[in-house]
Amino acid sequence: MKKMKIRQCIFCGSYLTGQKSREHIFPAWMQKRWGLGDSGILQTHFSETGEVLSDRLHSLRSHLCGGVCSLCNNGWMSILETEAQSILIGLAEGTSSLSELSSSQCFSLARWACKTAFVLHAASNYRPIVSAKHFRAIRDDTSQLPLGVYVHGRQHESTQPFAWWQGSAWFVDAEEDTLTPEIKEVLKAEAYKICFTIKDLILIVSYNPFTNMLPVLWKWNHISVFPERGPVFWYERDDFPKEDTQRACIALFAGMGLKQRDDQASQLQGTQKTAPPISDVSIKKL
Ligand SMILES: [Zn+2]
Repeated sequence: MKKMKIRQCIFCGSYLTGQKSREHIFPAWMQKRWGLGDSGILQTHFSETGEVLSDRLHSLRSHLCGGVCSLCNNGWMSILETEAQSILIGLAEGTSSLSELSSSQCFSLARWACKTAFVLHAASNYRPIVSAKHFRAIRDDTSQLPLGVYVHGRQHESTQPFAWWQGSAWFVDAEEDTLTPEIKEVLKAEAYKICFTIKDLILIVSYNPFTNMLPVLWKWNHISVFPERGPVFWYERDDFPKEDTQRACIALFAGMGLKQRDDQASQLQGTQKTAPPISDVSIKKL
């Protein structure tokens, strides 16, 4: 006889027997306001070799967030939605700017972004890349995000209300001999990136599991939401595809890398680094 799998809430671990959350990934007001419900939810991800893969599945309207208990859904997640609502409206409609947010608004937005990215990830059929510890931490710790988790954003004039990408493809700037098979394995298994758009707002949640590497960011395009400050490497390039939502989302995703920290890491300012070109990235339908 086939054994029935007992499901647990992805955030708190409680058993889901007898209760099933019927909540949507995005609340009704958001779907209605920006027409998200009609958006096709794409199982979009980067392969390990950096190839872009996508496969159309459901509309967001019919996509429910399974795997979440009603206590989480009606408790901390609902509080977080309410807290983030006015911030999201301003950013997604371009009446406020990411650079104008207060520290507490940045944190609310960052925590909301993580919660939403994790739910999107859990609702997809992609191999698990977000650690169970991160799901717990985002529920339990209301004062910070797990160490190594970053949230960046950018605003643009959207050409579609919703897009998203997930994967563990990073470019790494390090000496070849330091990129051991173990490090490559950790990179593949743990270092995630989940990028999604809500109208004019793009958010990218990422995780760098290495203490000896720092994120490499695209100056003026990866706007830091959380942490607000910290040592990073920057590169400058002026070919951000801001006129197309899908490509802008891919550019933010693919344009983020890691670089080995060195002795000068404490005084990083304007470090030049050329990221791999994203202009020739093509989208392959599965
Ligand atoms: Zn729960």
